Amino acid sequence: MSFQPTARGYYGQFGGAFIPEMLYPNVEELREQYLGILADPDFQQEYQQLLRDYVGRPTPLFRAKRLSERYGATIYLKREDLCHTGAHKVNNTVGQILLAERLGKKRIIAETGAGQHGVATATVCALRGLECIVYMGAVDMERQKPNVARMCMLGAEVRPATSGSQTLKDATNEAIRDWISNPTDTHYIIGSVVGPHPYPDLVARLQSVISEEIRKQLLAQADRELPDYVVACVGGGSNAAGAFYHFLDEPTVQLVAVEAAGHGVHTDKSAATSVLGRPGIIHGSRTLLMQDEHGQITEPHSISAGLDYPGIGPLHAFLADSGRAKFVAVTDEDALQAAQLCSRLEGIIPALETAHAFSALDQLELKPTDVVVLNLSGRGDKDLETYLRELHLA
Ligand SMILES: *Cc1c(COP(=O)(O)O)cnc(C)c1O
Repeated sequence: MSFQPTARGYYGQFGGAFIPEMLYPNVEELREQYLGILADPDFQQEYQQLLRDYVGRPTPLFRAKRLSERYGATIYLKREDLCHTGAHKVNNTVGQILLAERLGKKRIIAETGAGQHGVATATVCALRGLECIVYMGAVDMERQKPNVARMCMLGAEVRPATSGSQTLKDATNEAIRDWISNPTDTHYIIGSVVGPHPYPDLVARLQSVISEEIRKQLLAQADRELPDYVVACVGGGSNAAGAFYHFLDEPTVQLVAVEAAGHGVHTDKSAATSVLGRPGIIHGSRTLLMQDEHGQITEPHSISAGLDYPGIGPLHAFLADSGRAKFVAVTDEDALQAAQLCSRLEGIIPALETAHAFSALDQLELKPTDVVVLNLSGRGDKDLETYLRELHLA
């Protein structure tokens, strides 16, 4: 089984590029150029240097002793929360800004859910002196205020998306609309492994540095390159794609993808796409999608803005469909409890998205010899208000 996309961007039955005619030139230009640009030694030199000196890579692989004792297995945390801007998103934006420069683009647009991708995009636009417009759902702007403030400070314009559930899906629609209106000078930096081909592959490659480092670090620290489990939360799927990438063809490594169950998978307030979704097209890609009997997208719900999306990337749809990855779902309440546990056992306050991955440890049947790597996708500063309120700490 291959987990690389075909030339037209298919992972099994999922993927492809279903785009309006007006977007065809932009997407086609990207498709023709991206592999060549990524392979170019100049690009690689600049990308690797920025990852090291600006992002702060490699991020540590930390053996979490108290968490390991609690779960009766050896648990390592891949510290993407220590990346500049506080999450893995910047691995992708650093790469895409260099790509945009090589395509001669002067204006950058992005969508954002929790605001982490917006911040990471605003950051690299400031770094390279490019205009930056970020679309964000009006509801998300309200629940992730610290990130809205950061984007403003960095000089980006944040435009509220006020349609639908006023969350990530709607922000993505607005960004696509903008790109259609500005086809020549604008590059759209998508923040996850979603969208039309080549975005899912482009973003997965840019995030694959995570698993490349895990293999080396595990070999140095535990004398083995392969863990028994890699656990990551899935919104669109970029941090999971990065953490899984170099283990996809290693069948002894169990890949665990953690979705947001919201109030519960079978309530109507959930974002557990692999359970609730059926094949359909969203944002240019054929993938698993939450939809009603008429094929209309249903509104997802998660307490975590970064997981509040009715689809998953086509690679993940294929990982679910083929059984290569185990998909588990975690409720809002369980994620909140896991955030508190991680904070108090390890002194690390995780992002609400990442807290879902921590809670999934409860659903694995771990043995004392098991080695687990959990991708700590981001830090929880942006979620403190929610934590204090929901955990009744203030
Ligand atoms: C955006 C975000 C996510 C969800 O996005 P993916 O593309 O699925 O990784 C998860 N964790 C954090 C910290 C995020 O900022």
